[in-house]
Amino acid sequence: MEKFLEKLKSKEMAARLRIQSSALKAIHDHMHLFGVIQLVPVLLSPITDPLCHSVFEADIAYYGQQLALTKSMIMHKQISLVSPYTDKIYIVSPNIRLEKAELASTGRHLIDFSQVDVEFKGKGRGEFMGFTEEIMKHTIKRVLEECGAELELLRRELKTPKGPFKKYDSREMLERFGEGYEQALSFESSEPFWITNIKREFYDREDPGCPGKYLNYDLVYPEGFGEALSGGERDWEYGVLMRKMEERGQSPGSFAPYLELAKRGELKPSAGGGLGVERLVRYLTGTRDIGDVGLFTKKPGEKVVL
Ligand code: AMP
Ligand code: MG
Repeated sequence: MEKFLEKLKSKEMAARLRIQSSALKAIHDHMHLFGVIQLVPVLLSPITDPLCHSVFEADIAYYGQQLALTKSMIMHKQISLVSPYTDKIYIVSPNIRLEKAELASTGRHLIDFSQVDVEFKGKGRGEFMGFTEEIMKHTIKRVLEECGAELELLRRELKTPKGPFKKYDSREMLERFGEGYEQALSFESSEPFWITNIKREFYDREDPGCPGKYLNYDLVYPEGFGEALSGGERDWEYGVLMRKMEERGQSPGSFAPYLELAKRGELKPSAGGGLGVERLVRYLTGTRDIGDVGLFTKKPGEKVVL
C-alpha cells in the first residue's frame, strides 16, 4: 500500500496522466475529423481474440453459458462493419490478457490494458498505415503544444516525427538481426517505423497470390520502446478462415457466431489495427516501466493491489 500511495500522489504520475489525457483527446479529435465512428467497448462475449501467444484464460460462467473477458475487439470490429451504413469505426477498449509472469520484466506488458482499436471497411493496408502515421504525428504534436511543463518535469525530449515511416519486412529482419529484430531496430531508430508481413492469427489476411505472405503490420516506437500497434488487412471468406483456423489447430466451435456470419457472406474486407494506450503514454513520457504509467496498472504475475 505504501508503494502504491507514493506512486498515486507523485508529481510524475500527475504529469503522465495529463499527457495521457491530451493524447487521448488528440486521438478522439482526429477520429472525429475523419468521420470514424466511436463504439463503446464489449467486455463479455462467447467469442474473443484467440491471440498468437499463450495466456491464462479469463472466462465467466453465466446461466450455463461460458463468456470470455475481452482480449481484443477484433471480431466485434469486423462484425460491426456488416452494417451497410458504417464503414469506419474505433473503440477505446479495455483488454484482459492474463499474461505469463515471465513477461513482467519486459516493461511493456500489463494484464489489464486499453487499446484504441480501429477498423476501416473496404480499405487496404496502405490507407490504414497512412491514417496511423497521421494520427501519431498529430498526437505527438498536440502533446508537445499542450504539455511542455509536464514533459520538462519528466525530462522527456519528444519530437514530432517527420515521416513517412520506414517499412521493414519481418522475414528480412529476422535474417539480419535474429529473433530480437524488433527491439534491435527499435533501439537504432529515431522515428517510429513499420514491420510488415508477420505470421499471425487466422483473421490477418494472407496474400492470395503469395501464400505465406501476410498483408499485416506492426508500428514500432524508436529508442527501444518497441511495439505500438498491430494490425492488418483481414480475411473474411468462410473457406479461407476455416483453413487458417485448421492450420493453427483452433476449434471452429469457439468462434461459431463469427463463422456463421462469414458463411452467410456478411463479413466484408477491411483493414485496421489496435494501438496500446499505456504503451503510447510510456513512449510519450519516456517511462521505461509500463507499471509506472497509470494509477491501477497490473503487471504479469504481480499481486494486484487495486
Ligand atoms: P496486439 O494486437 O495483440 O498486438 O495488441 C495491440 C496493441 O496493444 C499492441 O501493439 C500493444 O500496443 C498493446 N498491447 C498488447 N498486449 C499488451 C499487454 N499485455 N500490455 C500492454 N499493452 C499491450
Ligand atoms: Mg502485436
